[in-house]
Amino acid sequence: MQLVPEFITALPVLKKIEEAGFEAYFVGGSVRDLILQKPISDVDIATSAFPAEIKAIFPKTIDVGIDHGTVMALWQKESYEITTFRTESTYQDYRRPDEVVFVRSLKEDLKRRDFTVNALAMDADGKIIDYFDGLQDIQNRVLKAVGSPTERFHEDALRMMRGVRFVSQLDFELETTTEEAILEHHALLEKIAVERVQVEFIKLLLGRGRSRGLEKMIQTELYLYCPGLRHSGEGLYRFASLEGQLVDRLTAWTLLVYFIQLENENIDSFMRQWKCSKKEIQEVQLAKSALDERLFGTWTVDCLYRTGIEIAVTVETIVGMLTEKNDVSRLKAMFQQLPIKHKKELDITGNELIAALDCPPGIWLGALLTKIEGAVLHGELKNDKQTILSWARSQKK
Ligand code: ATP
Ligand code: MG
Repeated sequence: MQLVPEFITALPVLKKIEEAGFEAYFVGGSVRDLILQKPISDVDIATSAFPAEIKAIFPKTIDVGIDHGTVMALWQKESYEITTFRTESTYQDYRRPDEVVFVRSLKEDLKRRDFTVNALAMDADGKIIDYFDGLQDIQNRVLKAVGSPTERFHEDALRMMRGVRFVSQLDFELETTTEEAILEHHALLEKIAVERVQVEFIKLLLGRGRSRGLEKMIQTELYLYCPGLRHSGEGLYRFASLEGQLVDRLTAWTLLVYFIQLENENIDSFMRQWKCSKKEIQEVQLAKSALDERLFGTWTVDCLYRTGIEIAVTVETIVGMLTEKNDVSRLKAMFQQLPIKHKKELDITGNELIAALDCPPGIWLGALLTKIEGAVLHGELKNDKQTILSWARSQKK
């Protein structure tokens, strides 16, 4: 296999472990992505050396997940996660192994991995080690569980969600027995922490095979066990039929709430169930209400100002996906022409108003500032301290 720079810089790490008398391989997603000629995210290394042995080989290490056998080694300004070959014994709660056992065999380690395409290893010479026909599955573009899918999903139910995520991300087909096992055991997903399901769901939505991934998530009924989606099968199908890859999370969430026809006042509780951050929820609320307005007509000054240019561009891009008619440059030009882009650009402060009008602070102040903001925004009042003050005085009379 022809190596790419990400692997070449990591080669000395493999060599150092080998020189100390152990085996070391590149494993997992990076090997899969190398074969698929996709960009490599992180290069993971698996080894027969135990964590203490790795720590003795490298001068600088950090215990990032020592209980699971992962040590981070710092080497020539880069950091590498090195994980000891391990097997996982008896899973009783469908999500976590009761015990992690370190082993010296690569095959044992690859056996516990989720899908055949993720169970490949590569040695320092670029030779691929393929015990589970992962190469053939990559060739045929199918996603297949390693070993018995039923067993694998009972061990860790998140793998079902990872399955539909990889279908989308890689744009692969789901192998039949793997799909049947998900359909049969979908309810196990309930055992998995929402945060972890969310990670996979968002990766699915952002994948280039989103349509296929979403279809599989619906057909296998995994969506029934996702927060707030129980009655949204049809909406998800509509989302699946939308063409084009989504560029970011804001686009994904906004389109999701649009397609499942969630009322705007329910966005907060829906996204809180998904454990989204307050900031992200607010952005989606802004985007969704702007989208509703924009789909109804054109951008208004008030809506654009309230939304802000960044979110507005996202909304305009979404409009393009939904209607094939949008104009981002026109929107940007319109924003440029707003007399103020943000409240903080007003050439007046609350304290200045209090002093000039000689009134004690009170609710009048907020109301007056809002009025000034609106008048400046609409070009009815110049954004200039003296002009604003005399206008405020005239309002007081
Ligand atoms: P990504 O491109 O999203 O990083 P990845 O395949 O690298 O994809 P990771 O979540 O980074 O996925 O996991 C690295 C590897 O660890 C996987 O390729 C797989 O071999 C193994 N793995 C991760 N999660 C699981 C799991 N829940 N069950 C079994 N194996 C897993
Ligand atoms: Mg990875």
